[in-house]
Amino acid sequence: MQRTPSSYPIVTLKSGRDKSVRGRHPRLFSGSIKSIDGRPKDGDVVDVCANSGEWLARGIINQQAQIAVRLLTWDEHERIDEAFWYKRVAQAVERRARDPLLAGVNARRLIFGESDGLPGVIVDDYAGCLVLQISTLAALQAKSVLLDALVQLIAPYCVLERSDDERLKYERVTPSRGLLYGELPSGPVEIVEHGLRFKVDPQGGQKTGFYLDQRDNRARVARYCAGAEVLNVFSYTAAFGVYAAARGARSVVNVDSSQEALRLAELNMALQPPSACATCYELADAFDFLRTCYGQGRQYDVVILDPPKFAHSPAQIERAARAYKDLNRVGFSATRAGGILATFSCSGVIDAALFQKIVFSAAIESGRDAQVVERLTQASDHPVLLSFPESEYLKGLICRVL
Ligand code: SAH
Repeated sequence: MQRTPSSYPIVTLKSGRDKSVRGRHPRLFSGSIKSIDGRPKDGDVVDVCANSGEWLARGIINQQAQIAVRLLTWDEHERIDEAFWYKRVAQAVERRARDPLLAGVNARRLIFGESDGLPGVIVDDYAGCLVLQISTLAALQAKSVLLDALVQLIAPYCVLERSDDERLKYERVTPSRGLLYGELPSGPVEIVEHGLRFKVDPQGGQKTGFYLDQRDNRARVARYCAGAEVLNVFSYTAAFGVYAAARGARSVVNVDSSQEALRLAELNMALQPPSACATCYELADAFDFLRTCYGQGRQYDVVILDPPKFAHSPAQIERAARAYKDLNRVGFSATRAGGILATFSCSGVIDAALFQKIVFSAAIESGRDAQVVERLTQASDHPVLLSFPESEYLKGLICRVL
């Protein structure tokens, strides 16, 4: 096969190492590379060719990182220029605008990294306050174009940068935070999700401020909460609790180890129309709290477990699996017979099948039988790209505990 003439430096793959690139997987690992011609600097656009010389894809190189090339296009005629970045942002925004599942929400993830063809770019929109998070050198190259595109397409009142993700260190990119455009909001920003109001702190809150990926799951779980005593563990700012109360929960206990989160949780519960739901906030370690419930024989009708990511890499799977099992064991114990346990994992390296096995072991260890009544995943503004199965990270089971 003839090598295509190109003005970009060329990365040639080892023989037999082209399968993932042909499968449009957006990450090329350094171990697959045979040679690099044309002396690219890190952050430069490169062409990726098979060992035969056949052109396969184009991306941005970072020789400091294990993921040596972030692949951006499989179309030989597509150049990586300002128009390219603008188009990708416009497409991502357009997809959200057309998504029926996002009708009536004013807080959504506008760009979800590789799933939107923009590796290392996250953009969340909180009612016109945009939060940009960059986690690859490739995305950093395009920062100013991305910003211009967002300002043009969304007309936000501000764009905040929160590029402080832990993955930055693997890319040798310096963290960066601050206001990129517009004016800082004077306090928490108010958003509306499924008709419910929430205060979000895009500057100081966790991640970019709110867990948008759980939007639809909150509504699903809330359907079991009418008349229920609800325990919302890892509550953050009480989003699941707010939905539960709106669906007629008798009481909600929100448990979190972050004082800041619970402060906003109180604000959020108070934002809703008056209800008869009794609410309380427990600043506690979730494991300790649930063990105490077990010790005292305290149980609830609906228990929600939405912990932070326990496994960040395959090496951590085993330890994380033990932590999920321990957590779910005490979670089952805290659930009344006939009640509901809604349990989640956002560890991408633990897939749905493994998660179900872990929850099963936990049920056995706590001596309970349970039925899976619903399987949950991330919201549609966090789409799963078929060629990048790693983009599926959130899974949840709603279990009826017998
Ligand atoms: N369910 C929330 C999101 C939860 S994020 C929502 O829908 O918005 C995970 C939360 O767990 C964070 O708020 C974090 O502060 C909290 N957390 C982390 N470790 C914890 C621990 N050991 N005990 C209690 N809370 C913890």
